[in-house]
Amino acid sequence: MSASPSSPTPLSPATPLTAPQKALRKLGLVRDIDLALHLPLRYEDETRIVRLRDAREGDEVQIEAVVTANEVNFRPRRQLLVTVDDGSDTCTLRFFNFYPSQQKALAVGTRVRARGEVRGGFSGRTMMHPVVRAAAGALPDALTPVYPTVAGLPQAYLRRAVATALERADLSETLPAAISDRNAGVPAWDLRRSLTFLHHPTPEVSIAELEARSHPAWQRLKAEELLAQQLSQLLAKRERDRLRAPSLCAHPGGLHERLLAALPFGLTGAQRRVGEEIARDLARTVPMHRLLQGDVGSGKTVVAALAAAIAIDAGWQCALMAPTEILAEQHFRKLIGWLEPLGIGVARLSGSQKKKERREMLERIESGAAALVVGTHAVIQEQVKFRRLALAIIDEQHRFGVAQRLALRGKMGVDPQVAADDGAPAAGPMEPHLLMMSATPIPRTLAMSYYADLDVSTLDELPPGRTPVVTKVVSDRRRDEVIERIRAQLAQERQVYWVCPLIEESEALDLSNATATHAELSAALPGVLVGLLHSRMAPAEKKAVMDLFKEGLVGVLVSTTVIEVGVDVPNASLMVIEHAERFGLSQLHQLRGRVGRGAAASACVLMYSQPEGGRLSEASRERLRAMAETHDGFEIARRDLEIRGPGEFLGARQSGAALLRFADLATDADLLEWARALAPRLLDQHPDMAKRHVERWLGGKSDYLKA
Ligand code: ADP
Ligand code: MG
Repeated sequence: MSASPSSPTPLSPATPLTAPQKALRKLGLVRDIDLALHLPLRYEDETRIVRLRDAREGDEVQIEAVVTANEVNFRPRRQLLVTVDDGSDTCTLRFFNFYPSQQKALAVGTRVRARGEVRGGFSGRTMMHPVVRAAAGALPDALTPVYPTVAGLPQAYLRRAVATALERADLSETLPAAISDRNAGVPAWDLRRSLTFLHHPTPEVSIAELEARSHPAWQRLKAEELLAQQLSQLLAKRERDRLRAPSLCAHPGGLHERLLAALPFGLTGAQRRVGEEIARDLARTVPMHRLLQGDVGSGKTVVAALAAAIAIDAGWQCALMAPTEILAEQHFRKLIGWLEPLGIGVARLSGSQKKKERREMLERIESGAAALVVGTHAVIQEQVKFRRLALAIIDEQHRFGVAQRLALRGKMGVDPQVAADDGAPAAGPMEPHLLMMSATPIPRTLAMSYYADLDVSTLDELPPGRTPVVTKVVSDRRRDEVIERIRAQLAQERQVYWVCPLIEESEALDLSNATATHAELSAALPGVLVGLLHSRMAPAEKKAVMDLFKEGLVGVLVSTTVIEVGVDVPNASLMVIEHAERFGLSQLHQLRGRVGRGAAASACVLMYSQPEGGRLSEASRERLRAMAETHDGFEIARRDLEIRGPGEFLGARQSGAALLRFADLATDADLLEWARALAPRLLDQHPDMAKRHVERWLGGKSDYLKA
């Protein structure tokens, strides 16, 4: 973040930062407004003096009293004992660590204010390490804020910095009265009043109201924050709407139709509907920015392939990026199987590729011979130059970081010159259409806030012929029964996944080791080929094992979570997840989605391990229960959000993005609705105010929200 002109202390480049200044930067507290929005963690009440006689044991109070004795004791250990008397009673202030100067400041006869917890005791009242200062001046009339801080940034320094910044910050109104009046539910308090209050609340305030963040000052802050988020998303969307993209239309008898005819199955109603939504976007000259969400197994890949077919048929290239090599490889095979017979060149890019193959692929991409490019992150590397990319597809988009998504959009710009050479209408710079896919459905409130700038298509129907997966929660003491169950599946020529959480024995965590399990199952299942897959294996090794599993030669695949995303082996009918209590809900759901892909009845066994002599935590039990109860990805995502909160749920997207600091989507849905309704009107009727509002709240961070 760069220093803005309103930095608390304008620094010339030559001035080295002091330790507290460095700490302020580390906390992101650079502009006055950043400091003004740095709210207290809690408050201390220094507004009142309590008489010792009235102080109950355990109360945290401030007293004002005169020192009557001051001595250093050495038994049981070195300590300073100061006796004070406030006329109602006496109290001993006890300090184990002290400087000679402190001792001097507490000379007999000095009048002091001391704040701390009053304890009773054998020899009368005491306070351990109270905060003491000379009893000078009037008492403050507001609570004293205690701010979140870091090492090297003393509370007193931070308090002064915040107070100064609060005075200086531009907190002028960004909500025109005419608009906010008509929006019921917006707190009447303005920003300045709200912030002034939250930094220095009057002592009569209800602490409960402050803590529950239901106080009008809090409501105002949350509303403004949500509005900033909505505005920045809207701005990003409008900015994108000004960009141009090649218009891609499907033609009767074209590749799109030929691919459809060649598929071994008919599309589901949901696939058809979503396909049409995407086709409509592609036909426009504005870049598509669409999220395709659909539960595991809902058939997103074929929808992506059909979109690619439209782009390719129009004479353009398409890129498909997947988060893992296994998944990229699987996509590559599937797509090459579908498209090559139709005369379409497909290239692959991966990090583990041999130099020669890679060079070949790069050439085919640059020349345009490869119409479709499938790969991992390798697709966004610098050497990769597309001749005329028009459609970028990201599978399992939540697995990619913000930076990667930005890189994809930035790096894949269509060169207008090439576009013109190819006879395409190129007016100014163009961007490719973007289709993101995810099996983790976004709960409504998140969709309305973090993804407000996205168009969303949902596959809400599974292909026919699937039988629901039966989920069982089982203690690992019944491991033998589980292995018996595996035998039964193998006897019916079915295949089995066994998932372990970590690859190496970690005694501290007592996690099973995939290698040990592999050995155990190999011994328990003579005559069965048991495969092992973990993240430390070389890509070629992984691929070999996966191939054997796909071909049905490996009966049981023991793996760490590398199989989590997208792997498709319809003959697998049983999934065992060891230490299921250590996985997140969405992760479990993804794993479970690996089975139930064929017509056979499938099952998922969630095996948990009870801690020695203890019980599973409430959260773990809740997660496992939720998994057994529901198969609906949306319901699971909703519960996951409830259990983990949006920070973890959003994963990569949050890193760098300004996550909501004040508002809470679980409780502030009404404020979110308000912000959503207001944002477009504010932007249209008062664009300057809207910009000021976004700048104030998000500063340099708003870029991230566009990813
Ligand atoms: P996901 O949405 O999890 O990425 P996939 O695209 O991998 O799902 O599809 C899962 C399986 O369903 C694949 O084997 C795919 O070929 C198959 N499939 C997709 N659509 C249909 C359909 N309409 N009818 C039958 N099978 C389908
Ligand atoms: Mg998939």
